[in-house]
Amino acid sequence: MTVWFTPSSDPADARLALDALASVFADGPVLLLTGAGISTDSGIPDYRGPDSPPRNPMRIDQYLHDESYRRRFWAGARVGFDALHVEPNAGHRAAAALETSGMLTGIATQNVDGLHQRAGARRVVELHGSGATIRCVEHGHRWSRAEVLTWFDTANPGFAEANAGARIAPDGDAEVEGVAGVVVPVCPACGGMLRPDVVYFGEHVPREVFAAAETLLSDAAGLLIAGSSLAVNTGVRLVHRATRRELPIGVINRGPTAADARASVRIEGGVSETLSGLAARLL
Ligand SMILES: [Zn+2]
Repeated sequence: MTVWFTPSSDPADARLALDALASVFADGPVLLLTGAGISTDSGIPDYRGPDSPPRNPMRIDQYLHDESYRRRFWAGARVGFDALHVEPNAGHRAAAALETSGMLTGIATQNVDGLHQRAGARRVVELHGSGATIRCVEHGHRWSRAEVLTWFDTANPGFAEANAGARIAPDGDAEVEGVAGVVVPVCPACGGMLRPDVVYFGEHVPREVFAAAETLLSDAAGLLIAGSSLAVNTGVRLVHRATRRELPIGVINRGPTAADARASVRIEGGVSETLSGLAARLL
């Protein structure tokens, strides 16, 4: 049976909701599974949330098979990078505080923004990779996005300055023009094609990454999901494992999730304020 709580201005209701959520921690540390909803308060849009603008992000097969998409990607990434000032929010800080206090076995996140780690969390499994990391397709040589963008500047002198006024798009992208002559950076170790170290729609989470998340769950006495509708399969697989072990499951999200029927506690509300309240209640 699921206990539901919806936003209310009554502080007594909010206290009851946090008490119920705290019960997920009754038998020991919990795995925290997070999605885009925890980063919206940092200004990163949630494409699947109820208020999301319609958008068609590039597909990875377009990138891998068409040089014009790669030119467009790197040109946008270069100009968008300068405007990418994103900071962890109260939700990330609450999650880090819970982890530091031994209330979490770790955090498995579907986000690629690195904000959990920047807030001080240490045991973080990035299910969909890291947007700050670039790897070569063939050999997996890894580089930071920042250093690849300096190679872009060397190969395309004046481009960033000429496009400094371009409209900024989400995810460190920008609406740049004149990309036909752009030289795409390649791997300095092997000369091969570079790509973001991110799991795109239609790609699979690497086996060893999912195994690391499973380990965090097998050490846990509960599962708390925050800011994810669980539209992607990886999260659902973790919920199935928790259900099989009859672990308590808490869900904090705005809008329906694939785990609603299996949740013991379901909070229909914002992640930052709920996690902050939970940390204050538990710590
Ligand atoms: Zn390489």
